[in-house]
Amino acid sequence: MNINEEYIEEYIRSITPQNCPYLTKLEIYAKEHHVPIIEPETAQLIKVLLKLNKPNNILEVGTAIGYSALIMAEATSEDTIITTIERNESMIELANKNISHSAYKDRIRIIGGDAQEVLPHLNGTYDFIFLDGAKGQYLEFFKYCSSFLRKGGLIVSDNVLYKGMVATDNLVVKRKKTIVTRLRTFLNYINELEGYTSCVIPIGDGVALTYKED
Ligand code: SAH
Ligand code: MG
Repeated sequence: MNINEEYIEEYIRSITPQNCPYLTKLEIYAKEHHVPIIEPETAQLIKVLLKLNKPNNILEVGTAIGYSALIMAEATSEDTIITTIERNESMIELANKNISHSAYKDRIRIIGGDAQEVLPHLNGTYDFIFLDGAKGQYLEFFKYCSSFLRKGGLIVSDNVLYKGMVATDNLVVKRKKTIVTRLRTFLNYINELEGYTSCVIPIGDGVALTYKED
């Protein structure tokens, strides 16, 4: 279930330039193996945001096969370091392989483990943070991440509309109820949080942007 009309998505995709062959290969792999990588519209949005934000340090929760980390590496400068957290061993193995065969192997560092355990031990500040792990845990992730986001920095959260279910009970299937409730709580939280400005963009599977005031 897409949150946008198919013709809108198709049109936007038809005008979006293709990624390099290496990334295209990963897109095909992800499709074949049902790995939920960022959608093309979301990738383009992230690229534009990175050009504006010009981060030195990026943090990502949810590496999967390393696709979005590679997209972010390609869109940033040679000094930008990307730290990405993943808990699934086989994903870590694949991501390591994909990253080590890329031009960005020295700029992407994977931390293995559950983000809920890894995040409390991180130190340093980040300019740009991408949340793309378990949707039921965004609020916990966000609370840690906002503490080490620099002022003027951005947190981008993916899949916040979750196939539209977050926007209407009519679409919610029973076994997703808890996740949907948690995402709604998360969206209310970031929208009301003092010192931050947020918005929700209905592209891909729904993307929330949260800017930390200077
Ligand atoms: N960002 C990737 C896709 C990530 S899919 C891309 O667009 O290319 C979500 C990933 O988050 C999965 O691989 C899952 O194992 C991982 N994940 C989910 N919850 C997590 C957690 N609490 N800690 C670490 N990784 C988590
Ligand atoms: Mg996602």
